[in-house]
Amino acid sequence: MARFFLTTAIDYANGDPHMGHAFEKVGADCIARYRRLRGDDVWFLIGMDEHGQKVARTAAAENLSPQELTDRVASQFQATWRLLGISHDQFIRTTSEPHRLGVRELIDRIFERNPDDFYEQTYHGLYCVGCEAFKTPADIADGRCVIHPTRTLEEVEERNWFFRLTRYQGWLEEFHRTHPTFVQPEIRRNEILGLFRQGLEDVSASRARLPWGVPFPRPTSDGEPQTTYVWFDALPNYWTASRFPGSRASWPAQLHVVGKDITRFHCVIWPAMLHAAGLPLPEQVWAHGFIYFGGDRLSKSAGVRLDLQEAISRHGADALRYFLLREVGFANDGNFTWERFDERYVADLADGLGNLASRSLAMIEKYRGGSVPEGAPSSLDDAGARTMTAYASAMDRFDLRGGGEAVWELVSAANQYIVQTAPWSLAKQGKDRELDQVLASLARCLSRIAVLTGPFMPGKAAELWGLLGQNATLATAWQVGEQPEAAGCQVRKPEGLFPKPAPANS
Ligand SMILES: [Zn+2]
Repeated sequence: MARFFLTTAIDYANGDPHMGHAFEKVGADCIARYRRLRGDDVWFLIGMDEHGQKVARTAAAENLSPQELTDRVASQFQATWRLLGISHDQFIRTTSEPHRLGVRELIDRIFERNPDDFYEQTYHGLYCVGCEAFKTPADIADGRCVIHPTRTLEEVEERNWFFRLTRYQGWLEEFHRTHPTFVQPEIRRNEILGLFRQGLEDVSASRARLPWGVPFPRPTSDGEPQTTYVWFDALPNYWTASRFPGSRASWPAQLHVVGKDITRFHCVIWPAMLHAAGLPLPEQVWAHGFIYFGGDRLSKSAGVRLDLQEAISRHGADALRYFLLREVGFANDGNFTWERFDERYVADLADGLGNLASRSLAMIEKYRGGSVPEGAPSSLDDAGARTMTAYASAMDRFDLRGGGEAVWELVSAANQYIVQTAPWSLAKQGKDRELDQVLASLARCLSRIAVLTGPFMPGKAAELWGLLGQNATLATAWQVGEQPEAAGCQVRKPEGLFPKPAPANS
């Protein structure tokens, strides 16, 4: 059994979960479920990044301790992931003791193996509290941070620990040259190679003025205590996860799923940190695009206008999962519009899969008392076999949209098959053998569809699986998809698998 340890980025605990967070979890969850379906021993890690200035300030503004604030935010995120059917095996919080100990150990390992990798330097510059980062002229417009134009930049000077990232540029370039698929999709790899051409800079590893974080293992030479700075606190979560009691995470990870805005941290700083600490590197980084809504990237501010809870309740969590992966995809940027969401819901789910299931199962009930007859393979079985191949090929490349497309081509083919074979006239003419073949083919096809839609719509797939009277465990039923057997299964007619929304008032 192949191990498959995959992670998402940890979410910053300063605000409610929004569509951007949900998109990443849904995509990674689809991959996790697909790997389980293929028989892998999956460990799926998600979690929260809970330290830093912004959390401390928000907590103070709400008269809470930072820990109280992060406890509340973490439980909101977890409730949302339950609602969306995210099947993570571990939820890491960077304020947990095993993580804090792990961060210090990782830094200690670097001090022991490569004593020159950390050095002290006085840093002064313009600091954006919104970004929790010093800003370079390129990030500043009209004296303000381009990402946070409403905040005032602060002039800051302090002595910090720095990590000598520049020392690893040659090694990193060689690593990416010899591991051309380390970061995918390809466009993200080109961005990383571009960074090398610009030349890397050393990165700050500690802060003096940060009360809410992991103490940096060593004070500066003037005796000032330091706090571990964001990347040396957040990135190690993937490694410290395995140190939690009960965790079956085992380093290295097979896949980091991250947003395209943090690819450089995962493809440059993180590998260099691990290498400096003498630890193995993760196998692959997948960088997804962003969702746009009304022309804006979905983030905290835009999230006010596109409410995640509203999107979940509109047609149910599974419909939202399907829409995000099918319409937006998981590689490039995409748009969310309520119109497209409604259109796809009606066309693909209510009229597509919902109608197919309801017609097929109703006919098996009507003509064969709900018991799937024996029936010879048909052209629909051939189409199903081709779908298995196309689906696997897309999903193995993390082309989730391609996987969804393959399944819905089969849904259309099956609906066509019903029209072409006209089972109702076969029944009228008493052509029992032909009718058996059609009904059995449809039941096998629906079993396949339930297996293949599981990673996209786990709730609805399980519902369909139950209606089909199948006994195997759906989550690992790839073999059933390969060679579906339905004869003798006792089926039930669905009641509102994908109910059509009431027409809008006009
Ligand atoms: Zn900023």
